[in-house]
Amino acid sequence: MSLGEFDLIAKFFTRRVTRAALGVGDDCALFATSPGMQLAVSSDMLVEGRHFLPTVQPARLGHKALAVNLSDLAACGAKPMAFTLALALPRVDEVFLDGFARGLLALADAHGCELVGGDTTQGPLNICITVFGEVPTGQALLRSGAQAGDDLYVSGRLGDARLALEVFRGALALDGAAFEAVRSAMEQPQPRIAFGLALRGLATSAIDVSDGLLGDLGHVLRRSGVGAEVQVDALPRSEVLRALPQHWQRQCTLAGGDDYELVFTAPPQHAARVAAAGLTAQLRVTRIGCISAAPGLRLIDADGRAVVDSFGSFDHFKP
Ligand code: ADP
Ligand code: MG
Repeated sequence: MSLGEFDLIAKFFTRRVTRAALGVGDDCALFATSPGMQLAVSSDMLVEGRHFLPTVQPARLGHKALAVNLSDLAACGAKPMAFTLALALPRVDEVFLDGFARGLLALADAHGCELVGGDTTQGPLNICITVFGEVPTGQALLRSGAQAGDDLYVSGRLGDARLALEVFRGALALDGAAFEAVRSAMEQPQPRIAFGLALRGLATSAIDVSDGLLGDLGHVLRRSGVGAEVQVDALPRSEVLRALPQHWQRQCTLAGGDDYELVFTAPPQHAARVAAAGLTAQLRVTRIGCISAAPGLRLIDADGRAVVDSFGSFDHFKP
């Protein structure tokens, strides 16, 4: 006999909480708020066919659903505390739920982020998570703080998730090992929490790359009232991506999406501290350009020539 709504919640999603004052089981979860701290809150929804393929392993889906949310806390420099999980399921499939909960809760435990509540309903597979984090008052990393003269950086590597998507779509082919590497970038992104914390008091602005570098950087430039120059040949990318024609390298790094790396700005005098923050978080950090007072985004190749932006970033409501 299949489990009912409340048995399902009890079996897969109810755990003892230690950071929250009250977790799953009542009408609300409760937190004791700390003096001097601000609560950082963010939601992200994953819809089958839109954000993930029906063939993804349940554990990887559970991981990714939380990872994309934690990535927003990372971009804000917030420390994860807790999350809620709103879930629509077509049916009670215990094999799916077991894998999903395993992937989800393993990442939650790795970041000390507790599941404190949610909602469960029947419907097309849809996962909506809200994360709660904390940051000392006034220290959150915002999109609005970039200054002319700042260096522009990105963590990790860009483009592999988009590359994997293009292989799934049949636009490109990769051999087994190469495909597994980029597939894991797409299905199991690592939220840059430790790095986000290390950037507090150092970065003047930050954003996580979810829709593609150009689009997400555009948000920072608009909110900060500045422009930028980006060196397209300096963008960090995998050996797998480097082996492809230049067009694909640029498309995937500039407008790939689903990268969940941090793009941020810092004044040149902080360059050594930025490098040290990367070492602390065991993360590659690459300077990819600089911020200018003149508005707009200019793309430059290794020879200093202008590159035409024909890439376009992801927008759910645009073709
Ligand atoms: P309510 O009707 O008051 O919203 P529910 O009966 O829907 O509460 O849920 C019972 C409890 O289980 C609540 O504490 C709710 O937060 C929690 N819950 C429901 N679905 C989930 C889920 N997918 N993961 C974690 N907790 C959940
Ligand atoms: Mg409910």
